[in-house]
This record gives sequence, structure tokens and C-alpha cells, in this order.
Amino acid sequence: MKRKPKKQDMKNQISINQFGYPKLGAKQAFLSGETDAFSLIDSVNNEAVFAGKAAPTKLIQAWGERITMLDFTAVTLSGSFFLSANSGGQTLRSGVFDIATNPFAALTDGIERAIFANRCGFNTADENNPHPHAACHKKVTTAENAGRDRHIFMLTGETEGHTDFSGGYHDTAEYSRNVYLHAVSLAAFIYSITVNENRYATFKLYGLPADNINITESIVNEIKYGLNWLLKMQDKDGGVFAGIKTFEQTDIIAPEDDPAEYELLGKSVYATVAFAGVTALASWLFRKTDEKFAERLKDASIRAWIHFAEYDASHVIDFEAEAKTAVSGLCYQGTCDFDGVRFWALCELYALTGSEDFLEGAKESIPADICSFSPDNAAGFGLLSVFLHPDGGDLELRRKIMFALRVKADNLTSISEKSFITMEDFGACSNMKIMSDSLTLFAAAMILKYPEFRIIARRNLNYILGANPLNKCFVTGFGQNPVRRPRHTLSAVHPDIPPLAGMAVCGANNDRLFDNYLKWQLPRGTPPAKSYGDAPSSLTTNAVSMPATALLYFLITIV
Ligand SMILES: [Zn+2]
Repeated sequence: MKRKPKKQDMKNQISINQFGYPKLGAKQAFLSGETDAFSLIDSVNNEAVFAGKAAPTKLIQAWGERITMLDFTAVTLSGSFFLSANSGGQTLRSGVFDIATNPFAALTDGIERAIFANRCGFNTADENNPHPHAACHKKVTTAENAGRDRHIFMLTGETEGHTDFSGGYHDTAEYSRNVYLHAVSLAAFIYSITVNENRYATFKLYGLPADNINITESIVNEIKYGLNWLLKMQDKDGGVFAGIKTFEQTDIIAPEDDPAEYELLGKSVYATVAFAGVTALASWLFRKTDEKFAERLKDASIRAWIHFAEYDASHVIDFEAEAKTAVSGLCYQGTCDFDGVRFWALCELYALTGSEDFLEGAKESIPADICSFSPDNAAGFGLLSVFLHPDGGDLELRRKIMFALRVKADNLTSISEKSFITMEDFGACSNMKIMSDSLTLFAAAMILKYPEFRIIARRNLNYILGANPLNKCFVTGFGQNPVRRPRHTLSAVHPDIPPLAGMAVCGANNDRLFDNYLKWQLPRGTPPAKSYGDAPSSLTTNAVSMPATALLYFLITIV
């Protein structure tokens, strides 16, 4: 009997953005194989509406395939379509997709629901939530009470009578909660509002029109929910605890029934500085709609910064150990640029207070990579802060950023000329890196007024949503070929129903070392871009995370 080919072996496919394409702007798909020409066909009446000439075929090393790009940017019709092309003696067609003004509206909604469903300490019963749970993880212990050394405590200090640490989100596949990951995720959500609401006019004017904030209610509720937990994580001395985590084996169990002991991690410099950054940013966001909350956030932000600055002046900080705590729970460990988060916080504090001290600090601590938007380097949020500054930001800083943006965007462009997207090596958390590059390119297009960068930015987004060699939409429950079996404890509690929809996963990873699926089940010699497993055992490729989901949300709101 002939072996039925696995999906992974599928040849000659046309991979598309499975959500569809915005009416205006670049529209591209990938054909695995060769072709000269293709057609765009209206799926309602099967009539061809556009005949395109294919670009020259390229061998994409990381994909292990020859790929032909199909470009139908010229089409600005709305409707449902599919692509058709002749290749290798067969007629191939893509799945059906939309061309619409905003093809991502359902995904935006789905992500907001997913974030709500991942709330900790809250009864998430809701008609739209198929994975509800009762209020969970209200009890938190300290390391001493758990009989453990405070080995993660980087900043010393006591909890000083704090007892309530409930709230926040289960921000990775398990039930832990991490301040640094919350801060980066909330920053992406907040910037999706400020950038989106003012569209590109904001960038053109280099200033945020103060009266034009029209905030979507559900995402603002989630931002507030996350911030309220962050505020609880700040100690009286201004330092911020790194998070809440269990050191026991996590079973597949509903969060409210979880018997594991959860510990309050020590205060950390990453948590404290990222906290200062996100609370300053949030204070700006809420200044018109909730003045009292905005003041509270501002006070918390400044206290956190002062605590860090005093600690920094009198201690030698072990950044390597700190970084491991900062990203604990993500699929990579220990790669986390402190310069990036410090720069971000200083930019936000300058924007909020106007104090020259923060500006000078930001200028003195410009990180090597200023254009990154992910937990391993959050400097890009500082970049946005400078360009969205109410007074236009500092000229010298703007010039430096523009130069760095130009260099990085050119670099990413040359990678994409070889590989279509900006990724070649596919290490851990590749999707996050691809989305971060996409945000960098969007920022470069807007700030440098160079629209070509947007084409590559969109191609990266298309990759995440299905235009990739696995034909996989790297989001749970969305698209024609969604993530079906993510690593996500809450979803695994109910294996009989589909997983919680609307969460992004880590993506292809060429490093098999820490991944049982890749190690034992993926055939040797699988190309890097296909080194992925839609299985809960694939810790490094198929785990969901709040930062990845937040970056996707930010991307689809500015596309
Ligand atoms: Zn919980």
C-alpha cells in the first residue's frame, strides 16, 4: 500500500495569508514549485478577474524548496477569491481568501477573547468563552514559606505586608505569571491603540493629537486588568517582583483546581525597569479617560525607576541570571537585552514627565539594536515613544533612531531578497522575531517615508498567517489550517473541544535540543522552516504565549 503523504510532505501548493489581504497595499502568495503565470479567480462565479505573471522562481534554502512568488497587488476589488496556476503538469489552486478593507477584524476580536480567557484570579465564564474557569491561583507563598532559597531574588527586599498578588494573565502555556512578559505584551496592546487610532497621520505629524483617542473597550479592559496586577506586584520600596511561578510539575488540570504551590519570585531589575516603562506609557494612555488611574501609574513608574537607579548605583547586577528570570516560561531562556528595556523605560519616562534627566539617560543608553519589538529586546517601544511624543520628541534622538532604522531595514530587505521573509536561521521563537522585524519595517516605512519596506513587512505577516512552507496559520483556531494541538494547559483540560482560539505560537525552530517532538518525531534533515510540530509535546514550536499574541495584535491593527 502506498504511504499517504503527510501534510508536511505536500508539494506544489499555493500558500496564502489565510485571513485574506487588505484592499490597499501588497498582496503576495507563494507557490511551491515553478510556474510562469497565474490567475486570480472570483470564488462566487469562478471567473478569472486578474491574470498575473509569476516572478522568477527562487531556491529558498531554509524552506528546502524552490518557491515562486505570485503578486496580485494590482487587484483592489473586494470579495472572495482563490489563486490558480499550472505547475509541473498540474493545475494548482489556493484556498479561498478575502480581499477586504480590514480582513483581520475577526482575528482582532478573537485575540481579545483569548486574552480575556487567560485571565488569572478571575471567573472567566462568558457566552463567548468555550474554556471558562473559576477564579484561580489566589494563594501565593514566598520562597521562605515554601522552604526554598531566594535564589531568584536579585533585588533584596521584603514583601512588607503585601498579601494580594491575584490577577494578571496566565501569560505562557502554563499557569505562571511574569511581570516582564506582561509589560512587553501590554506595551504592544497600548501602542496598537495609539498608533492605530491616529493612523499614519501620527507619524507624519510626529505628534499624537490629544483629543482623538477612540479606544476599543474590550482591549482597554484587558490592558487595565493587566496593569492592576502589575501594580500589585510593586513593593513599597518601588521594586517590582518578577512574577508568580510554581516549581512543581504542572499537571493538566483546570486552573481553579491546580494544587501546585505558587511562589512570589524576587524583585528583579528587568521586572522593575519594564514596569517603569509600561506604567509610564499607560499613564499617558489614560490621562484623558481616567485621570486618577493615570496619576497612580505615573507615581508607580517613577518610584520603580528611582528604586532601580539607586540599586544600580550601589550593586553589581548579574544580568545573565536576571535575564533568565525575565523571560522564564518562554521557549527561549536567557537571551534578553537589558539595554533595550532600559532605553524603552527612559523614553517613556521622558515622554510622560518631560524631564531632561530621562532624555539624557536615553541618549546615553542607546542599545545596539534599537529597532526590536519582542521580549528579547523591547527597545522598539522606546522608538515609538520618541516618534509619538506630544512635542515631537528630541531631534538628536530622532536622527539617531532614523539612521538605525534605515540600516536595519536595509539589512532586513537584503535578507528578504534571498528568502522572501526576513528569517533564515529559524531559532527558538522564530515567529516572534518575524513579527518584530515586520513591526520594524512598518515603523521604517512610516518614519522614513519609504513605502517599499511595508511590502516586506506584509510578507512577514503573511508568513505568520499561512503563506509559509507548511501552509500553516500559526494561530489557534483561525485560518484554513490553524494550530490544532497547541501546548496550552487551559486548552488541554478539555481535549474534546477545539483549543482556545486566537493565540499565536512560537513557530519553526531548527534547534532540537530542548524539544521532545523535534528530537524524536521530526525526520532528520527536515529544513529549518519546516521544523515545527502541531503537538503539545513541541515546547519550543507550539507553545502559545501572550507576548507573541500581543505582537500579532499590534501587527494586524497597523497593517
Ligand atoms: Zn490562575
